[in-house]
Amino acid sequence: MTEGAVVVGGGISGIACASAIAESGLDVRVRDRGRRLGGRMASRTLRDSGTGFDGRVVDIGASYFTASDPSFKAVVESLVARDVVRPWTTAFHVAGPTGIEGVSTGPLRYAAPRGLRDVVETLAAHLADVRVDDEVGRVGVVDGRVIVDGAAVDSVGVCVPAPQAERITDAVPASPITWEPVIAVTCVFDRVRWIELDGVFVNDDPVLTWIADDGRRRGDLAPVLVAHVNPVLAAVHLHDPASVIGPAVATIQRVLGLDAYPDWVDAHRWTYAKPLVAREENYWLDDALPLGAAGDAWAGGPRVEAAWLSGHSLGLALAERARG
Ligand SMILES: Cc1cc2nc3c(=O)[nH]c(=O)nc-3n(C[C@H](O)[C@H](O)[C@H](O)COP(=O)(O)OP(=O)(O)OC[C@H]3O[C@@H](n4cnc5c(N)ncnc54)[C@H](O)[C@@H]3O)c2cc1C
Repeated sequence: MTEGAVVVGGGISGIACASAIAESGLDVRVRDRGRRLGGRMASRTLRDSGTGFDGRVVDIGASYFTASDPSFKAVVESLVARDVVRPWTTAFHVAGPTGIEGVSTGPLRYAAPRGLRDVVETLAAHLADVRVDDEVGRVGVVDGRVIVDGAAVDSVGVCVPAPQAERITDAVPASPITWEPVIAVTCVFDRVRWIELDGVFVNDDPVLTWIADDGRRRGDLAPVLVAHVNPVLAAVHLHDPASVIGPAVATIQRVLGLDAYPDWVDAHRWTYAKPLVAREENYWLDDALPLGAAGDAWAGGPRVEAAWLSGHSLGLALAERARG
């Protein structure tokens, strides 16, 4: 009789970790404290907005992702084939103090027609035991056994940001890495009032770093923008995210040359949005115990691809250790 593995966290790293364990033939349970899976690949459904867009999904966490690792690329290609993911763009506009100044090209960015949360939920669909609204309170070690909320388990992958891990365990080494906050401001307009663009990097601005056209990202061309507030300003407004809406909308209007004010606007706080730096190792694994940690503070993060790679690698390592 085995207790199986437990993965704490149902973001992309936790689901990748659990998938690797399950694909090794072992039992695994995912536990996430949120109402749905996805973590920072978060898509919100508009409700009671007073616009014609209630029911529409908006990406309020990660904006997009890239894929360069061959194993992650294979996952992404299978998701593209199932219409869960779409190749979005290689070009974003760039803005400076005088407004839009040019276009910058880079790697192919992927987005999701039904929102990025759909990526995580789709990858989790084959897992037999996934629990949401299920906060893990304690991960520890007693008499050489790994314990989760008082029960011994075969192995544990802690796949949550380090500051959240530190609240539930001292069995994972404390991380020196600082995490920066972001406030995501969603604006719904009556119609598209700006030039054709996918997103804008806002350089050297005290208020915003980035504006995404969520309609072009999702592919339905809805007049929805999502702007990310500069981490320094976000830190000041974390206690009251709505207080940053005025400066954020004014900056969107300046950058895009708009007079109109959005019909609906909202702000979402990410206290631990991104680690400032990430370790090159893919994950942490205890020297002897079947206990590890993964996420976007490893594998060179902070990106979706790094989080997947980190969780996947940890899952393979935990399965290997379980086989002895
Ligand atoms: C605003 C923003 C913009 C971003 N932009 C991009 C981008 O453009 N491109 C890109 O590649 N990446 C981007 N990222 C980063 C990307 O979202 C992350 O790298 C990735 O989603 C991290 O996944 P994860 O599984 O490691 O962590 P998370 O997604 O944070 O998942 C952790 C999960 O653990 C759960 N949890 C926490 N504590 C507990 C507990 N005690 N018990 C149970 N469950 C718990 C949480 O509910 C959460 O679901 C962005 C992130 C943010 C916030």
